[in-house]
Amino acid sequence: MDIRAVSFDLDDTLWPVLPAILEAEQCVDRWLRHHHPDVARAWSVQALRDLRDQIADEHIHLGHDLGALRRLTMERAFASCGVANPPVDEAWRIFYAARNNVELFPDTLTALERIRAHVPVATLTNGNADLTVIGLHHLFHQHVSSALVGVAKPDRRIFELVSDRLGVPPAHVLHVGDDPTMDVRGAKEAGMQTVWFNREGGPWPLPDEFRADLEFTNLTLLASWLDDHFDQAQPAA
Ligand SMILES: [Mg+2]
Repeated sequence: MDIRAVSFDLDDTLWPVLPAILEAEQCVDRWLRHHHPDVARAWSVQALRDLRDQIADEHIHLGHDLGALRRLTMERAFASCGVANPPVDEAWRIFYAARNNVELFPDTLTALERIRAHVPVATLTNGNADLTVIGLHHLFHQHVSSALVGVAKPDRRIFELVSDRLGVPPAHVLHVGDDPTMDVRGAKEAGMQTVWFNREGGPWPLPDEFRADLEFTNLTLLASWLDDHFDQAQPAA
């Protein structure tokens, strides 16, 4: 393997995303109860989730922009309750602040610093995390998100874009992610090398032809594998 750059998925690869999303939903619900009790009564947390799924089905072209889908959801919820000048921006601000209040996996920071000592690193996400708020932005050389570029993983174009931005051909980029389809199969079909970040240690769920080149249950193991890999590639003089 000739690895010249590494790209990382974010949600569920650098931090668990579900706790932050659940808390963000609760924050919006508390705010609605306080400021718009009619809307809170009409739209429970679960009802808003269902509405968002319905809106996602109606707006397939927005599948790459989860923030836009959440804003449309709030617009529709407010409209159904006859709220004039719906405070969609405020609802989104509350959701987004909590969504970015993530807790990194314990070894994320150390592992990233070890890996970026060898090769340039990039982010490649279908989510809408704000790495500046999370405090990791400075660690990466390039950032690619589906909301900004208009296509989402597993579309090969988003992998080609990160490869272009890194200035490294896809065959020499190692993509690391937790999602077998979005990350591993997508990156593989774009010609990249792949790591399945399999934190739970579960069985590979797709046909063998899509299996990742490497598989680790935490990022420390990946960083150690890369340390060894680069030590062997560049023997001491
Ligand atoms: Mg992920």
